[in-house]
Amino acid sequence: MSSTLEHLFDRNVAWVDGKTRADPDFFRRMAEQQSPEYLWIGCSDSRVTANDVLGLDPGAVFVHRNIANIVHTSDLNILSVLEFAIEHLKVRHVIVCGHYGCGGVHRAMIEERGAMLDHWLQPLTMLYRKHHQHFHRMARQDERLDRLCEINIEMQVRRLAATPLVENAWRRGQELHLHGWIYGIHDGLLRDLGPHLSSVEERDALPSIDVRVLTEIEPVSGVRRHAFSAFEALLAEASCACNCPSLPTRPECPS
Ligand SMILES: [Zn+2]
Repeated sequence: MSSTLEHLFDRNVAWVDGKTRADPDFFRRMAEQQSPEYLWIGCSDSRVTANDVLGLDPGAVFVHRNIANIVHTSDLNILSVLEFAIEHLKVRHVIVCGHYGCGGVHRAMIEERGAMLDHWLQPLTMLYRKHHQHFHRMARQDERLDRLCEINIEMQVRRLAATPLVENAWRRGQELHLHGWIYGIHDGLLRDLGPHLSSVEERDALPSIDVRVLTEIEPVSGVRRHAFSAFEALLAEASCACNCPSLPTRPECPS
């Protein structure tokens, strides 16, 4: 393989060729000002690339990535991205998206310490240590890891909602919605975890993160949402005459 990485330039030319054939105006449009509707805060993991998993072209999503998608409120990098996205690009949605099996989150669970990364992961490590007993009631290590991956996302959405940048946007009436999502590397599906926050009041109404650790919320993927809506009419038809949510054939129906 060439030390000047010529194969990557060849791939770039092939990509430009393919894009231009499919859409002759693509690069002319790209050269105009970007107006993405979404800011994506994700993990640096090479398998989770925002545009690919969202099926969006360049220009549609503004991106910040770091190890384990942590929101540090003293990190000039993320704060600058956030400021530009909210105040100049006027994105309407900020998505914190982690992923199952995250190596960064795994690092926060082990005893070894001393790397710069451990400073980065410190808030998550502290949360894990605080709830060590709860996590260790789960039999398998991968189960503990995936649960901490989910909790980490909620924690970061809350930290985002506590930044003066987001608070000020809400206070001046700017439309801005925060989302917590998780991606399954094993199946390519995004899942909505919540919380969904669109105001200071919604943020302040949340129970503490410690309560959230103990209360499982089932992540919902787009496939599952489609399945629910596909069977909605059928379920409504089959519901009981007494209007209870049970199907008549189910033993829990009280009538
Ligand atoms: Zn990761």
